[in-house]
Amino acid sequence: MGSKKELTQILEDSLKNNQNYYKQGELPNYIPTLAKADPKAVGISMVDVEGDFYSAGDFETNFTIQSVSKPLVLILAILDNGTELVFDKVGVEPTGDPFNSIIKLTGFAKPYNPMINAGAIAVTSMIKGKDNEEKFDRILKFFRRLAKNDELELDQETYLSEKDTGDRNRSLAYYMRDQDIIEGDIEEIVDLYFKQCSIKVNCIDLANMAVILANQGIDPVTEERIIPKKIARIVRTLMATCGMYDKSGSFAIEVGLAAKSGVGGGIMAEVPERFGIGVYGPTLDDKGNSIVGMRVLKELSEKLNLSIF
Ligand code: GLN
Repeated sequence: MGSKKELTQILEDSLKNNQNYYKQGELPNYIPTLAKADPKAVGISMVDVEGDFYSAGDFETNFTIQSVSKPLVLILAILDNGTELVFDKVGVEPTGDPFNSIIKLTGFAKPYNPMINAGAIAVTSMIKGKDNEEKFDRILKFFRRLAKNDELELDQETYLSEKDTGDRNRSLAYYMRDQDIIEGDIEEIVDLYFKQCSIKVNCIDLANMAVILANQGIDPVTEERIIPKKIARIVRTLMATCGMYDKSGSFAIEVGLAAKSGVGGGIMAEVPERFGIGVYGPTLDDKGNSIVGMRVLKELSEKLNLSIF
C-alpha cells in the first residue's frame, strides 16, 4: 500500500485536484444555517483497520451529520426492535427518487428504504426510551461510541433551523401515521429526527464510524464487537444500494463503495477489511450529495483500487 507519508500525499493531492469543483454545486438553503458554511472547505480522514489515521485539508472542521445519521440510527433501531419488526415497517429497495420525495409513499405499504427521509423517520420512531430526552441521549451516546468521541454534541442552531423549516418531513410523518406505518406524537418523532441530523461531527468522526462497518462491526483497535455482524452487513448493503439517493447507481459505478451522504456536506464511506473514510465539502449536487466529496472518493477509488465491484 505504501508508506503513511505516501498515502497522506495521495489524500492531499486528491483534495487539491478536486477542490475547485465546489463551484459546480450549491450550499443548501432549505435549512438556512447550512448555507453559512464556507463553500471552499474540503477535508478528508481515513483510518485503516490497524487504527492508523491519514488526514488532509479541513478534516477537523465541524459540520452537521444530517443523513449520515440514517444508517447509524438504523443500527440502533434494529438493536432495539429486531430486524423483522424494523423491515416490516420500512423496505430495502432503491427508489430512484430524491431523498425527501413523497411520490413513492402514497399508494405503497411502506417507505422504500431507510436511507430516504420517509424511511429514516419511520426508523427514528422505533428508537426506545421513556421520552424524547432519553431517546436522543441514547442516539447521541451511540454516535459517540461509534466515533470514539465523547464530545459529539447537538448543533442547536441547525436543529432549530431545521425544526423551523421541516414541513416536508412533517408531511411524510403525518402521512405515514395515517397509513399505520408509524404511531405516536408526530411532532416528537420529527423533533428527534431533526436532532439526530443536527449532531456535529468532523471527518475523523465519520472515518471512525465507518471503519467499524468496514471491519464487519468490530472496533479494529479495541477488538470489541460494537455491531452484530448480520446488522453490519444489512446496513452496509443499504448504504451501497441506496446511500447516495438517486445517484446511488452512478456512484456505484464510479466509486464502488458503500457510502452515505448528508446535506451537511459529509460522506461516510467504508472499504471492506481496509478503511473507514470521512470526507467533507459543503456544496451539493442536485441530489444533495457533496460534489467535492464524491470527486475525491472517485479519485481515491481509482488510485488505491478501492471499488468493491
Ligand atoms: N435533515 C435533512 C432533511 O431531513 C437530511 C437530508 C439529507 O441529509 N439528505 O432534509
